[in-house]
Amino acid sequence: MTTTTALPAPVPAATGDGQRGSIELRGVRKLYGNVAAVDDLDLTVRPGEFVTLLGPSGSGKTTTMMMIAGFEELTSGTVLIDGKPVDRLPPKDRDLGIVFQSYALFPHMSAAENVEFPLRMRSVPRAERRRRAEEALARVGLAGLGDRRPRQMSGGQQQRVALARALVFNPAALLLDEPMAALDKRLREQMQDEVKTLQKSLGISVVFVTHDQDEAMSMSDRIVVMRDGKIVQEGAPEDVYAHPRTDWVANFLGDTNLLPCTVLERKDGMAVVDLGAWGVGRVRDRGVDGDAYAVSVRPEHLRFVDAGRTENGGTGRIVSSTVLGATVRHRLQVAGQDVVMRELGTGSGAARDLRGEVSVGWSADEAQLLVLES
Ligand code: ADP
Ligand code: MG
Repeated sequence: MTTTTALPAPVPAATGDGQRGSIELRGVRKLYGNVAAVDDLDLTVRPGEFVTLLGPSGSGKTTTMMMIAGFEELTSGTVLIDGKPVDRLPPKDRDLGIVFQSYALFPHMSAAENVEFPLRMRSVPRAERRRRAEEALARVGLAGLGDRRPRQMSGGQQQRVALARALVFNPAALLLDEPMAALDKRLREQMQDEVKTLQKSLGISVVFVTHDQDEAMSMSDRIVVMRDGKIVQEGAPEDVYAHPRTDWVANFLGDTNLLPCTVLERKDGMAVVDLGAWGVGRVRDRGVDGDAYAVSVRPEHLRFVDAGRTENGGTGRIVSSTVLGATVRHRLQVAGQDVVMRELGTGSGAARDLRGEVSVGWSADEAQLLVLES
């Protein structure tokens, strides 16, 4: 059936090999005094998955990473890597590649020596160390720069060395805590693409930390939104963006218009809501329950409609229009409320008469019913 004659060497799988690189947190808690930095966290990272912890400063992201890595003890709960509890294992035995801000390059070592370091810790013979360090440096685009000291390299190059050092021992997974925070915007975007490409080609699991929603949106298979040590929502980037459960999540992941409402009817994933001066409207509903509700409409989902066609929407006036390169941002007063609208620069409102009355609306499946927390 199969031939045993010379076949090319198997190409490494483009995604996780199905087993290696899973990380699981069960009921993980970390108390500092009586303050819970991380509170009863459950999280599973599948092999080959790119998961981002996204949250504001102080939400417990770094503490979570430190517990996965083994630099902080858990107050309670357990961490499993590839299905095995690792709570008793020191960091070096957890098989995780790490790029943390607090885990900088050794300044007195060359780039190559930095990259070789984890191999030295694992008693890999010298010649093989050399070879693998060179290979890892080439993989991050630094072939031939192994002799340089960190201070002879740019910020972006240093981050690449850190990445090579994290990858060189072929770890089960990578933990990256705000690895690009110190880079300027353009370099950061370039590194985001490079890290994503590298992750895909290696098929390695990544837990990534950022407080930057654009970074989280552009890189992740799944976003885990954290607040006060807890997960408040998780899902694919476009899912969390489109279906925020609360006003806090909606605001944290971009700009939105929040229109307070009361719910009249909920059925088949849609809700009919009373928006007061905006009238009655239809929106998507994920079934979240709370004491107060609002409709979230992203600025890019509001559009100008013909007067009278305002089933989901209202009538008002434009307060200001600002051209932002490719898009135009309109600020409007509609039914007594300030709203923001964004459309492509060539859109219907670009040359609109600022004094006239306008009607704006949304389509029911582009607005989300959510719980008002604040
Ligand atoms: P993030 O990385 O999301 O900014 P951290 O995990 O660093 O958040 O911090 C979460 C909370 O735990 C914060 O309130 C922080 O002040 C507190 N915290 C973190 N480390 C310590 C520590 N070593 N001692 C006391 N409190 C800490
Ligand atoms: Mg942090």
